[in-house]
Amino acid sequence: METVRNYRVFANCYTSCGESEVLLVCESDFDDWLSGSKLIQRALPYLSAGQRELLISGLCEECFGRVTGFDDERPSNVIKLADRA
Ligand SMILES: [Zn+2]
Repeated sequence: METVRNYRVFANCYTSCGESEVLLVCESDFDDWLSGSKLIQRALPYLSAGQRELLISGLCEECFGRVTGFDDERPSNVIKLADRA
């Protein structure tokens, strides 16, 4: 089944940076994520990591990077415990 991305979602960063974005998604995909039946990576794989972050955390990519100290796609819940065995 072809995904038709004709549903627009407006998301803005909750900090004062003024960043906002209109995301084009498939409505049923978006509903899958909203309802919790799918993780956002599975429901909306075609959005960029930064766009998904804006939906999840309400932070644009730049603010998210500032808050977490990560500016790449490393998951922030993964912590390296030791450098040496
Ligand atoms: Zn921002």
